[in-house]
Amino acid sequence: MSEMVTQVPLTAGPAPRRHSVAVQVGKVRVGGDAPIVVQSMTNTDTEDAASTARQVAELARAGSELVRITVNTPAAAAAVPRIAERLAMMGVDVPLVGDFHYNGHQLLEREPACAEALAKYRINPGNVGFGAKRDTQFASIIEMALRYAKPVRIGVNWGSLDQSMLAALMDENAQRAEPWDASRVAREALIRSALESAAKAEEIGLERDRIILSCKVSGVQELIAVYRDLATRCDYALHLGLTEAGMGSKGITASSAALAVLLQEGIGDTIRISLTPEPGASRTGEVIVAQELLQTMGLRSFTPLVTACPGCGRTTSEFFQVLAKTVQEHVREQMPLWRVKYDGVENLTLAVMGCIVNGPGESKHANIGISLPGNGEAPAAPVFIDGEKAMTLRGDNIANEFVGILDDYVERKYTARTS
Ligand code: SF4
Repeated sequence: MSEMVTQVPLTAGPAPRRHSVAVQVGKVRVGGDAPIVVQSMTNTDTEDAASTARQVAELARAGSELVRITVNTPAAAAAVPRIAERLAMMGVDVPLVGDFHYNGHQLLEREPACAEALAKYRINPGNVGFGAKRDTQFASIIEMALRYAKPVRIGVNWGSLDQSMLAALMDENAQRAEPWDASRVAREALIRSALESAAKAEEIGLERDRIILSCKVSGVQELIAVYRDLATRCDYALHLGLTEAGMGSKGITASSAALAVLLQEGIGDTIRISLTPEPGASRTGEVIVAQELLQTMGLRSFTPLVTACPGCGRTTSEFFQVLAKTVQEHVREQMPLWRVKYDGVENLTLAVMGCIVNGPGESKHANIGISLPGNGEAPAAPVFIDGEKAMTLRGDNIANEFVGILDDYVERKYTARTS
């Protein structure tokens, strides 16, 4: 019987980042050795400049480092510079990405102020134009990118894959001695569509440091397979995202599962989590999930995270759940101010635990932790600061006192930023 050799990594952590050519998108660098960038997209009507500017500001304040907006009509293109002006008046400095389909070449030509105000153009080779017009319309957009010195994202999407490319690959596959299965042919079509479009853009004159690629599909395993392959076949910066991920926990789980595997392998320079918001819910959920994904993987730090136990039969009161929520919300509310005031505060760690079993141990690992009393335990909540028991809270005001301890700690521990 042959002996199985299992390789156990000696250290925890992701694989080295794949080499990619860095692309400057307005003030934000994507790829190369730049941190993995969080981006999002509005769902307002771009023609409504006021609502769109408000939502862009909301997404940017939540931490979106690039924000994409649909540019689908002449009125939407005309609104883009007005959106940029409104954002400037609001003190929001975030690069805007224009999402173009079918008529991008006309809109960019007719609205020079739109072409100028955008920091990047996103084009989809599958619907940039049809038949003989496809190549000329694609070339027109690339020429606009050259004229205005902008980068582009060539974003292929499974739902709008270039059908002529797919048909050609099916024919090619039929000639193989051992034909590939249909999903492999489809993956190859996605990847070739992206790579051939990028090659065309380069032929027209766009440099590699102006090109970002994406190949989005809606299946987790398919997405992983596509990007693993794409990553080995080029050194363009890559935008990761699971398209049509869905709503609520399904969308979060599917996106996190797919992107986590790729990020762990060092693949990906910018991410978007495409969540369908609940009716009336804020669009910022997708930004928070993207940040939490990067932070829980140890790839970037954005905001202090609260470690909380799930609760069990040892604690029948909801108090610790309420406390964990209060602390997390307090941190999120304070973070816009803390971020500009205190250097390194995003690395702060907090623990809210439900009983003595894991409470003190987990609390000691955090900068600040509290271990609440479980059933039958003395009604006292020890607080640990930097691994040492610092005090014990009792009574009805534990939540407010703990938040006060947290605020004092932040003020004492983190040095004020000078600029
Ligand atoms: S810390 Fe205590 S209450 Fe929380 S899950 Fe563990 S045993 Fe249950």
